[in-house]
Amino acid sequence: MMSGFIRVAGIVVLYTAIVFFLLGLGDYRGIEVLTVLGLPVLLSSWFFGLIGGAISGIASLIFSVPFVPDSKILPIAGLCYLAVGGGVELWHRLKHPPKTKKRSPHEHQLFKRSLNFAHIIDAEGHVWESNDRAGEVFGSPRRVWEFIHPDDQVRFREELSRAALRGEAGPTKLRTISQRKEVIPVEMKLVRLEPTHQARLALEMRDLSALAELENKVREAQARYRYLIEDAIDTLDTGILLLDKDARVIWANCTLEKFFDLDRDEMVGREVRRALFRAKRALAQPEDFERVVNGASEPFLFTVRTDGTERILEYRSIPVATERYKGGRIDHFIDVTEKRRLEQSLQEKTKRLEEKNRQLEEFTHVVSHDLKEPLRTMAAFSQYLLEDYAEKLDDDARDYLQRINRSSLRMRNLIDDLLRLSSIGARQETLEKVYLSEVFEQIKEDMKSRLENVSLQLPKTMPIIVANRTRMVELFGNLISNAIKYNDKPEKRIEIGWTQQGEFYRFYVRDNGIGIEEAYLEKVFELFERLNPRGDDYESTGAGLAICKRIVEEYGGRIWVESKVGEGSTFYFTLPNPRFSAPSTNGTREAVLAITD
Ligand code: ADP
Repeated sequence: MMSGFIRVAGIVVLYTAIVFFLLGLGDYRGIEVLTVLGLPVLLSSWFFGLIGGAISGIASLIFSVPFVPDSKILPIAGLCYLAVGGGVELWHRLKHPPKTKKRSPHEHQLFKRSLNFAHIIDAEGHVWESNDRAGEVFGSPRRVWEFIHPDDQVRFREELSRAALRGEAGPTKLRTISQRKEVIPVEMKLVRLEPTHQARLALEMRDLSALAELENKVREAQARYRYLIEDAIDTLDTGILLLDKDARVIWANCTLEKFFDLDRDEMVGREVRRALFRAKRALAQPEDFERVVNGASEPFLFTVRTDGTERILEYRSIPVATERYKGGRIDHFIDVTEKRRLEQSLQEKTKRLEEKNRQLEEFTHVVSHDLKEPLRTMAAFSQYLLEDYAEKLDDDARDYLQRINRSSLRMRNLIDDLLRLSSIGARQETLEKVYLSEVFEQIKEDMKSRLENVSLQLPKTMPIIVANRTRMVELFGNLISNAIKYNDKPEKRIEIGWTQQGEFYRFYVRDNGIGIEEAYLEKVFELFERLNPRGDDYESTGAGLAICKRIVEEYGGRIWVESKVGEGSTFYFTLPNPRFSAPSTNGTREAVLAITD
């Protein structure tokens, strides 16, 4: 560009000098000056195009002003110069289209080193140049047809003519063949490098083999996943029917075929009513067929008989909300035959058990009352003898009578305990909110005299539980009573406390009594198990802890003891926290409203 200006300036200066010289020789007219000055315009336009023409024209005008008397002619002449310059440029360009701009070294490097396959080709498919990567894979082909896959050559030809016409074509996917005869999928683009005739085109191709491999892997994984899911669903015990938004069957599993004795291949694509029509007569209730085909929103049970097998199926329909099958539904047919059979047999067994329990309770009552009657007589008459005939009896006779009397009283206590034990859980007991602080108030009142020399330490706060109040008095009362009874220390201490443990409260009753040997830690909870029988103690029956165990277990909790002989024992037991659930006395647990302290 710069050298062009210097040349233009040189020519203008040279011509101006010549014109001045000629003007100095003789007379002149303005038009002659302009004609002479027009020569460099033409020449510079010829060589330097429009810009050259314009510059030399303007320069010539400036120089000619002092010599041209008629100033009006100057703008017209200026315009003429520009028109001539422009015209010459246009003609010049049309005649000699600009040569392809030589690529800069950077562009060349970019072309050569590109990771894509790049070729410079012409409209006939001759290869003029290839980059390194293309050379590695395709060698040195002379024509593109040597490496374009035969099946894709027609398409390539179309792309080629499109690029020749419009300047570019693609991106298009096609296959190429490498030197090693491997098929390489590519995405190609064609760009015309020269906008006029004799076009060269840049053919750039992106290797898609890695992408294709990845796509294959994804496809394989998808297929594997689908087969896996279908296999899994096929082996389910539940019949599955997938319907689209128009209630047409998309898919059904093997189990469904078996339940209704149908062929799923025949079902697919059909409207559900038609697909299941053959199974209609297998349904015990015809109206159930309507509920199934209409996709009842509420689950229901129905009976179906196929191949001599009667099944109870639970029908559940779930609407599909995901993209693909949106508006459709998945129908589940769950075989509940066995479950129903078990439920029925369980119900029958429970009924029988309840009846047996009732009979047993009646029996226990009758027997214990019948047993208590003669016992009462024995106790009363032995007492009369001891009181009224005391003088007539010798020491041995009195001792014998006292033993009979104590034994009959003990027998009465044993029968009472047995009755108490059998009554726990025998019938539904009333459950209420029990404030344990009130329970302890009652125990303190009941055991006032026995607690006189005992330090009873209660926690500051006590939880509220849902239970039978009398049972709670019995439970805590028994443990406190034992803690006093089995204590040889001059200063008897009992500590009661509790902690929260998951869905349960854990309580403890600790004493500083005689303790229990490790071997008996579980045995003490057995009925009529006494570790320290005392001859004169007819009150202790060995049933107290068995009763405690039965009460705790009736509420779903458990009881255990930790002890050290000579140092004392701690009895632990758990009872449910009503915030989570409340027990019912027959062992099942029902949800109740959370109760706050
Ligand atoms: P009972 O007190 O009528 O004998 P229990 O079932 O209440 O019957 O107790 C069973 C046995 O467990 C008792 O005979 C006693 O030997 C032992 N026992 C119970 N509580 C304690 C305790 N706090 N400390 C030591 N031994 C105990």
